[in-house]
Amino acid sequence: MRYLIISDIHSNLEALTKCLQLARGRYEEVVCLGDLVGYGPDPNAVVEAVRDLASVTIRGNHDKACCGITEAEDFNPLARFATLWTRGQLTAQNLAALRNLPAGPVQLDGFEFVHGSPRDEDEYLVEAEGVGMALQDATLPVAFFGHTHLQGGFMLTREGTLQGVQCSAGSDDSLATLDLEEGARYLINPGSVGQPRDRDWRAAFAILDSENGRVNFHRTPYDLATTQDKMRKAGLPEPLIVRLEFGR
Ligand code: ZN
Repeated sequence: MRYLIISDIHSNLEALTKCLQLARGRYEEVVCLGDLVGYGPDPNAVVEAVRDLASVTIRGNHDKACCGITEAEDFNPLARFATLWTRGQLTAQNLAALRNLPAGPVQLDGFEFVHGSPRDEDEYLVEAEGVGMALQDATLPVAFFGHTHLQGGFMLTREGTLQGVQCSAGSDDSLATLDLEEGARYLINPGSVGQPRDRDWRAAFAILDSENGRVNFHRTPYDLATTQDKMRKAGLPEPLIVRLEFGR
């Protein structure tokens, strides 16, 4: 089975649409690792698109805050502003859909899917120490995570060496391939669809081929100007608009 794995869409409909266009015909199922909403201008359209698309969707911290499960107290002022704006935009049906999303980990086809990390849905996997523990904690050898908006992830080799997963995708729409090694453990991040933070503004996603043990990382440019224009018209904070073009 080939899975399209998307994460951290953050109400960016143009980025999501472009990812789906590029991935068309290359997957059978969709898994979403959370943060459908928050920051961007199209929360309702994105919640509805993911509902129609994904066989598994896990909740993210922004989903929890935007539907009122949490109060966004630990968010910075700009993120909190966008959270409250999003809450005001969401229809009753879409608020309920977000409230009903499961927390990770979810297991499917021998793989594990989480928003933050296998032991804590809100943990950011960036530091070597936390990553090392998470690699040991994961119930299955290969887990997919989001939350950091950084495409790639980490692996623990058969020999016990912790290293980063190389996913540098050069030209537009290009892809990097990762062949999963027997005996190694992985934490793999497909990157963020709607707000990448790895200094590459292009929308990110991954495709997992579960039978062949292969992950393809993709980056693709999207209609950023339209997203930014919608954000300005919605009165969303300027720094959130500008950061999209810098991928940070
Ligand atoms: Zn996020």
